[in-house]
Parts: sequence; C-alpha cells; structure tokens
Amino acid sequence: MKIKTGNQGFLRRQNLAGIFQYLYEHAPVSRIELARLTGLNKATVTNLIGDLLENKFVREVGTTIDKRAGRREVLLAINPQRGCFLSAELGVGFISIICTNFAAEVIWKKRQLVENLEPEFLLAETLRLLKKARRIGEKKSGMLQAVAVGIPGLIDQKSGTVLFAPNLKWRNVEIRAVLQKHFETPIFIENEATFAALGEKNFGAAKGFNNLLYISAGVGIGGGLIINGQLYNGASGYASEFGHMTLDPAGSRCACGNLGCWETLASQAALFREIHEAISAGKSTLLKEILKCDAQKLSVQMIVEAAQKSDPVALEALRKIGTFLGVGIDSLIKVFNPEAVVFGGILSVAGEFLLPAIKEELKKRWLLENASDPRLLLADSGSEAAAMGGIAKILQTVLANPPI
Ligand SMILES: [Zn+2]
Repeated sequence: MKIKTGNQGFLRRQNLAGIFQYLYEHAPVSRIELARLTGLNKATVTNLIGDLLENKFVREVGTTIDKRAGRREVLLAINPQRGCFLSAELGVGFISIICTNFAAEVIWKKRQLVENLEPEFLLAETLRLLKKARRIGEKKSGMLQAVAVGIPGLIDQKSGTVLFAPNLKWRNVEIRAVLQKHFETPIFIENEATFAALGEKNFGAAKGFNNLLYISAGVGIGGGLIINGQLYNGASGYASEFGHMTLDPAGSRCACGNLGCWETLASQAALFREIHEAISAGKSTLLKEILKCDAQKLSVQMIVEAAQKSDPVALEALRKIGTFLGVGIDSLIKVFNPEAVVFGGILSVAGEFLLPAIKEELKKRWLLENASDPRLLLADSGSEAAAMGGIAKILQTVLANPPI
C-alpha cells in the first residue's frame, strides 16, 4: 500500500526525486547501481522503480553484468516518450523555441528574428511557435507536460507577469494569463538570464558546480546565481539584476532610467559605441568600409573577425569592454565567492578576446595574492542557454515532485 501522507509520503517523494535525478545523470543504470549511488537500500529502489515503470516514467533498456553482485542486471533509463517539454526565450529581436522529449533531448527548435517588440505582437508570435512545437512534440513524445518562458526583465513569478523589461520597453505584461488560455499545463515564467544559469548548470559548462555566477552580456547584462545548488531568486524574485549595478554614478543614462549602470559600460551597445567613436575620431579600421555602406550592419561577429585580423580599433574596443566586464565580475566574486563564473550571451562570441581582458582585471583586483585563478568559463549552450534553462526548470519541478 502506498502511503502518501505525513513524513513517509514526504520521504517517498524525496527518494523518488533522488532516483529520478540519478536516472537523468547516469542512465542507463541498474537498480543495484542506483542503490549504490543514492544510498537507499535495494528493496526501496526496487519498489520505487516499480512505480516509475508502472507509470511509464522509466523504461528498461537492456542488461549488464554487475561485477560486484556477480549477476545480470536490467538497465534502466528515463522514458523519452513519457511526454514533451516546451521552452521559449523572448529576446530583443528574436524568439527562440525548444521542444524536448521527457529525457530532455531536443526534438525541435526554432530561432525567429523579429523587429516588432510590442508585447501583443511578440506574444502572438510566441504562441504560434509554441503551438507548432507542441504539435511536433506530442506526435513524437507524448503529452505536453509543462511550458517555460524566459524574458529579459523583472518577473513576478506568482502571477507570471513581466513587471519591467527595460530593453523590450515592457511594463506589467501578464504573460502567464495570456498563455494559460492556450495551455492547460504548468507555465513557468522567469528572467532569461536566470534560466540560462540553470541551463548551464544542468546541461552546459557549469555541470557539477554548486556555487555559480552566470553572467550574460548582450543587449544588456543579466545574470543568475546558484548558491548551494539552488537558484537564488531573492526576497521578491528580482535577484541577479547585475547589469543595473551602478558602476559610474556620473555615467550615461541606462534603459532602466538610472545613470552609469554596468550595462552602459560593458554591453553590446557599449562595444558598438566604442567602434563608432573610434571611426568618428578618424582611426583606421577594417570596420570603417563596412559601416560606410550600412551603419546598422555592425555585429559582434564582425568585430571578432576584425580583431582576428589584428584590427587595432576592434582589439582596443574589446579590451576596453573586457576590462569593464572584469571590474563588475570582480565585485560579484567578492560578494558571492563562487566556484566558477560562466560567461554567456551574445558577447561570449568574442570570448577569445574578452576573457583575457576580464582575467587580467580580476588578477589586478584579487584580494589574496596567491589565490588560484577564479574559474572563468565560457557558456556552452550559447544562444540556447536560456531556452535550455527553461527545460531544466521544468525537469527540476518534475523531479522534485513526480506525479505518481
Ligand atoms: Zn540600468
């Protein structure tokens, strides 16, 4: 008989979540190996796996000889056909959609560029893409389990409302209310950089790190903080708005309204500004000819290509932005003492030039002279980090409370 109330029910859920987590990380794995990994006894593992098999969360995928036990053992894995997950990132100028199966394997994805940033337009387009992804996902992997949406702004998670997204120029947009009319599943709305931090921890460069600072530098600077393995949201859910830390009290006006925010000094816009100013000052650069034809054409990739050809203006602009990134990251390291700092977002395309400048700045400002270098890593998932983070959020929720 299953006991679902009181402490035993709580314990059972915890054990199930633990087994689920190990299945995601180590599959294919046998019951005996799961018992070793989780520290649970074999009978408990067999019992829980029985429930997971019965509810089709898990499937048998072959056998192995367990040398320690000296016998053949059945191997188990997450059943990818148990359902599908949808995740979207709404950015400044794009919508990115990922659909995965229950084993978090991507089965469909699309990145669509958009010029119109009005909430009505972006949400209608996102809905259209999510519905398309759902049709494909459900056909391949079974019923939709949950939807996640990442946005570059301050989110009220209780109501699923974007309170303020400076770079999209949105205020009080009730996203969950709009989506809930079309999806009956749970819907998670979160800051995109916070999702990206989760994505990097679960699927990317930060796998295995429990104290992690994620910095996403693009149109603005966002971030995410993982403390003791858990995402840190702060009292009201607005933590990690690193881009709006004041670094220059007399600096230029930020999209948020303040003066001298970090992102006015070290974002993509700041990098472009450096290039334009150098050209206006008459400095010689490979980028000059390209911009003469189309001033809007400048991209981070173009600046990287110029830097690779030793273009002095591109190199100097990247060094300057790297230095400002380093100044901000140094302060964050001093506050949070993370095991690793993961650098993502559009500017991570220029990682080969930015990371050395960031590291140099960190070394200059490091408190302990003999301390080892802070681990500074480039994000793995690139432009998909936030959408994969949404998948990680869904998984975390399913893992913590399997619907059995
Ligand atoms: Zn700001």
